Amino acid sequence: MDSKAQYLTQKVTPTHRTIVKVKDVEVGGSSFIVMAGPCSVESKDQLLSIASFVKSNGAQILRGGTFKPRTSPYSFQGLGEEGLKIMYEVGNRIGIPTVTEVLSDSDVSLISDYVDMLQIGARNISNSALLKRVGKTNLPVLLKRGPMTTIAEFLLSAEYILYAGNPNVILCERGIRTFETKTRNTLDISAVPVLQHLTHLPVILDPSHAAGYWEYVSPLSKAALAVGASGILVEVHPNPSCALSDGEQSLKYNTFSTLMKELKILESAMQKLE
Ligand code: PEP
Ligand code: MN
Repeated sequence: MDSKAQYLTQKVTPTHRTIVKVKDVEVGGSSFIVMAGPCSVESKDQLLSIASFVKSNGAQILRGGTFKPRTSPYSFQGLGEEGLKIMYEVGNRIGIPTVTEVLSDSDVSLISDYVDMLQIGARNISNSALLKRVGKTNLPVLLKRGPMTTIAEFLLSAEYILYAGNPNVILCERGIRTFETKTRNTLDISAVPVLQHLTHLPVILDPSHAAGYWEYVSPLSKAALAVGASGILVEVHPNPSCALSDGEQSLKYNTFSTLMKELKILESAMQKLE
């Protein structure tokens, strides 16, 4: 970054921090926030079941993909507007704020009518038209780092949104591409303290897309809490082998429930360190 410019994402003082509100949930404050749900919204019954399960186990925000950025054009592309309607209804019925990904600037206004936070996916981290467009909305934005994005580039993408007028950005590290092939991506744990040093924006981790395999998601989620992240984004599915996307990395209900209990214990242990 140009060291002379005062960027909007840059800290003004060493303790300067932003709390982003997603409806009444504060991200970047003193609690560790869990955003959980399926990779893709598949049906109303599926989302209702997942939403009530994750909420009753302590998750604060419901995730679910409705417009899916798939590597193959033959893979499930998401339910689109039908999925948005499901998210809206389920979010209201269960009483949990929602987040879904927006793939294109032409979908921003439609999606904004149905959800409480807009997600910019890893593949769109440098789509400046989309960044500028979400910067014109008044919804919070969950901005995911791309697998090839440096921290400096990540911050400049966030800068686009702030510069366009929207100060409510949550940064999400979701794994970067390295030589390692035993995981889908490599979770860059260091990104948390580095970003917290450089910016006042809240930082969360997505262990699901980083790991690619459900077995590694719980340990990485606990690492997220221990390293000082403001929360996690995790994929949960009642029957991962039948999931329409990302089943391999989705937690089953019992694993999610155990993870939530462990996070509570870890969170109180962490409070003793403060
Ligand atoms: C997702 O959250 O389902 C997703 C597609 O994530 P990413 O953009 O990190 O690949
Ligand atoms: Mn996914």
